Amino acid sequence: MKQESNYARSLIEASLDPLVTISTEGKITDMNQATINITGINREHLTGTDFFEYFTEPRKARKVYKEVFAKGFVADSPLTLRHKGGKLTDVLFNGSVYKDNEGNVLGVVVVARDITEQKIVSTALTEAMVFAEMATSIAEEAKTKAEKATKIAESAVRAKQQFLSNMSHEIRTPMNAIIGFTKVLLKTDMSVRQKEYLSAIKLSGDALIVLINDILDLAKVDSGKMIFEQTPFRLSLSISAMLHLFEAKIREKNLELIKEYDPEIPDVLVGDPVRLHQIILNLVSNAVKFTSKGTISVSVRLLSQDDKKVNIEFSISDTGIGIEKSKLKKIFENFQQATSGTSRLFGGTGLGLAIVKHLVEAQNGEISVESKIGEGSTFSFALDFLKTDAQAGAETELFDPELKEDIKNIKVLVVEDIPLNQLLMKTLLDEFEFECDIAANGKIAIEKLEAGAYDIILMDLQMPVMNGFEATDYIRKKMKSKIPIIALTADVTTMDLDKCKAVGINDYVSKPVDERVLYAKMLKHLKKSKGQTHQKSQNNNSKRLKCTDLNNLNRRTKSNPQLMMDMISLYLEQTPPLIMAMKKSMREKDWDTLYATVHKMIPSFSIMGINPAFEQMARKVQDYASANRETDEMPEMIHQLENVCFQACEELKEDFNTIKKQNHD
Ligand code: ADP
Repeated sequence: MKQESNYARSLIEASLDPLVTISTEGKITDMNQATINITGINREHLTGTDFFEYFTEPRKARKVYKEVFAKGFVADSPLTLRHKGGKLTDVLFNGSVYKDNEGNVLGVVVVARDITEQKIVSTALTEAMVFAEMATSIAEEAKTKAEKATKIAESAVRAKQQFLSNMSHEIRTPMNAIIGFTKVLLKTDMSVRQKEYLSAIKLSGDALIVLINDILDLAKVDSGKMIFEQTPFRLSLSISAMLHLFEAKIREKNLELIKEYDPEIPDVLVGDPVRLHQIILNLVSNAVKFTSKGTISVSVRLLSQDDKKVNIEFSISDTGIGIEKSKLKKIFENFQQATSGTSRLFGGTGLGLAIVKHLVEAQNGEISVESKIGEGSTFSFALDFLKTDAQAGAETELFDPELKEDIKNIKVLVVEDIPLNQLLMKTLLDEFEFECDIAANGKIAIEKLEAGAYDIILMDLQMPVMNGFEATDYIRKKMKSKIPIIALTADVTTMDLDKCKAVGINDYVSKPVDERVLYAKMLKHLKKSKGQTHQKSQNNNSKRLKCTDLNNLNRRTKSNPQLMMDMISLYLEQTPPLIMAMKKSMREKDWDTLYATVHKMIPSFSIMGINPAFEQMARKVQDYASANRETDEMPEMIHQLENVCFQACEELKEDFNTIKKQNHD
């Protein structure tokens, strides 16, 4: 018995949690050491006292142990025990009744688990959760604020962009007139002094336009709106044309220009020739500006290449004033010049190199400079260009000084609302010896176009009543006319090139109009369209140009009328079936037949004196056909060949009748 009792005692004492037995009256009958420790009251004093007295909430404690008697057990009821010294201990109260051998309830055994540690952990957890929630809400608030700030910043950038673009438009329009008329005036007779004054006006005007363009470019780069074209172009031609612009200046300053061009560079590359032009132009212009004797060297080297692309290094060196070492980094920042006197001595705004750096870096290149005061500077940058099999467009020829073409009897429709600009365009076109008609908006332009024949349209974009986009859209879609349309735009920055292309504008020239650029672009498009069937309205037959020329046939047949008539009949007989066969084989993508058909047509072009451009076009079709390749240009070329051949047939029929008549008379 003693042994059993010892055993029970050891079990009770083994528990680190307080363990208490209570009589049916709620009096403590026994306890372990842990209970004594947690209450701070010894066994004698605890025994026989009310169990619930030791809790902070005695009523709740009483309720709980009553529940044990009622239900037979209770689990995990939270209560707080009070130590006699005042210290409180949180416990979870678990209890169950114990009975005698007959099943009579004798009392309750209660275990109170000390949950102080868990409480600490759970409080910490709750706190952490509260903190986390707070942090989340702070973060969310910050995010909302940041989003708001971004929106404000974005709208500020947009406002800046809009402001700059509006300003540029407002400034460029009158500048266009000022510079344009100054140029016109400079060509008239006037005293030396007057010429001097006018030249000064023109120089200032030019400088202002450069500044506006620079600021606009920077704004565009800043707002990430700078778009780089990917067009095929001939690099060597582009470089020579560019350097040609400096020849006069270099000669004037008695400098020597050295050009090194790596012959390994493929002829045609794909990239943005206009931006490349801008970069090199800035660097060469600085080199010339800051050099008073010696040489300017421009070297273009192939650094590396693979199947797809080439990496080319451009270096522009001079023997000029040089740049102080400490300033080498600064000069690439906005509005930075190497010395405070630079602007006074050499002019400039300190924007050029900042733009150059942006333009190079935006194309994944890098620009560097080496310089020694008094000895000179070298600016170098390398860019990647894609390789291509395609032919270069005529864009690079734009600056080709050799570009001269005798295009006569050209009638231009100028669509422009501002009277000053109208007059200026008229003056320019008079100089090109082009005939000119003016329409003050798109609507008037369409009326004029419906009534008469024109070779090309120069179209302002922003106009009242009907703007340039709407007018072009109408001309292309409703009138189905392919007449070349060149947009005249004051603001290249915000001009939507995609929109221009989408409505069918062929090209654009920015204002103030550089007459050489305008002339070159007009020639390019006239040349292209002259190759096509004549664009003038079909209702104006009197003005229609002949596409055939019998001089060659005359020569070949030694003006034998019968032979001439035979040749013409042969042409008239053969050509229509050949055209049909050409169209059919194109439709059916039967490249062999297409090749053979066009091959048969080719000799007749030169015999009948048809513009050689068509013979070339036919050869191109033949080349594509032999390579089994269909290109986007092909349907249009076939269409043009068809038109010219039909027109030739019409003309030759008349010629045939004339010869016949003359020889019968
Ligand atoms: P700008 O020429 O309009 O002042 P840039 O940004 O083109 O502006 O050039 C910034 C400055 O860098 C110039 O003002 C000049 O001090 C210096 N710099 C640029 N190129 C040269 C050069 N080739 N030789 C000497 N100094 C140069």
